[in-house]
Amino acid sequence: MHEHVPSSTDHSHDDHSHHDHGHDSSSLGRRDLLRGAVVLGIGAAGATIAAPAAAAATPAAVVPARAAGARTADVRTADAPPSLAPDPEAPADAPPGALAGVAVAAPTIASCNTWGAEAARGTIDTVSTNPNKILIHHTASANVTDYSQAAGYQIARDIQQWHFANGWVDTGQHLTVSRGGYVMEGRHGSLSRLQNGSGMVVGAHAPGQNSQAIGIENQGTYTSATPPAQLWSRLVELCAYICDQYGIAPTQIYGHRDYTATACPGDVLYSMLPQLRSEVAAALAGTSWSVIVDNTSSGFAAGASWLTSSFSAERYGASYRYATPAEVSDLATFSAAIPSDGSYRVEAWFPGIDGYNTSTPFIVYTGTGSSTIRVDQSTGGGAWLSLGTYAMTAGTRTVVAVSRWTQGTAYVIADAIRITRL
Ligand SMILES: [Zn+2]
Repeated sequence: MHEHVPSSTDHSHDDHSHHDHGHDSSSLGRRDLLRGAVVLGIGAAGATIAAPAAAAATPAAVVPARAAGARTADVRTADAPPSLAPDPEAPADAPPGALAGVAVAAPTIASCNTWGAEAARGTIDTVSTNPNKILIHHTASANVTDYSQAAGYQIARDIQQWHFANGWVDTGQHLTVSRGGYVMEGRHGSLSRLQNGSGMVVGAHAPGQNSQAIGIENQGTYTSATPPAQLWSRLVELCAYICDQYGIAPTQIYGHRDYTATACPGDVLYSMLPQLRSEVAAALAGTSWSVIVDNTSSGFAAGASWLTSSFSAERYGASYRYATPAEVSDLATFSAAIPSDGSYRVEAWFPGIDGYNTSTPFIVYTGTGSSTIRVDQSTGGGAWLSLGTYAMTAGTRTVVAVSRWTQGTAYVIADAIRITRL
């Protein structure tokens, strides 16, 4: 399934699989013309990641009927509701200077010798200038389920052969991440220069960018699939290390398609680049990571029985969702991308008014298990309420769900959650 372009061609087609990421300087051709055809811009991608889509539309502002016995006077006059949270996936804006003095731990990177590369079949050019950006690729190879180191190394050897078949002197990209999260040197010499933080080898991964952009190939195809959590975690660490070593701002992380007319790195991975920039910025800043998922966020999902209201001024943002208790499996879910294994505080925000449920089940998913916390939503609203601190594993998933499975008839409420790395 991997067609290979003979070295005698001009690489003019653009099906953008792994073999088509660029060329050596010796084969500059018409594809250089292509890079001007793609709009360059961080903001081009949607901020959404592979989160479940929101449920079918519900009435925009249904006012919930008050439960029996509730009095209007019980509705507290809260402070003005908080404004919508800033998009947690918006690109960070740390200038390069802000990186000075920050030490980022070097991830384990297997050298060409370690993964069994063949010797280069020609001279590898180098430049003494540092790269000014990172380009993210996918290899457009199979989404293997063998996440072992051996499998990752084998694919790296396959890639080198594919690139030899293009007439290139060596693997085209500088670095490779396997689906199991193993990081490897790509083109010979890339690793030592990265470790020195000075100069780079000229790659063959994106025409026009090969002597100024570090190319990272992610094994797999991410046109519709989401990268495995292990791959994502190592990719964040690797990008943070590259940014630190070379003084590259995390805003300067792009997709291959930003420079070449190509589908690479796939719609899903491309849509995650704002998140990548944000997580890399957080890693560089050494600050705690935190995300808010509101009921209007892309990470929220709920079925049609969860109606929308803006009744209480204690709501977070513009609205919240409510449902009647029932012994059904009909969760309102909040999903997020937990950036790394670690300890996280989980909090919930809801309007707490007399007439809402006194024992609403909140379920927290850690990646290895779940805990159910009963929350009295008849009081104490309009603020962040801690649901506890949890050891969580990295990955994009439902982190908090609100269940309808409780007693009584008073509404259960799903409004917003906040997750903070400790
Ligand atoms: Zn690419």
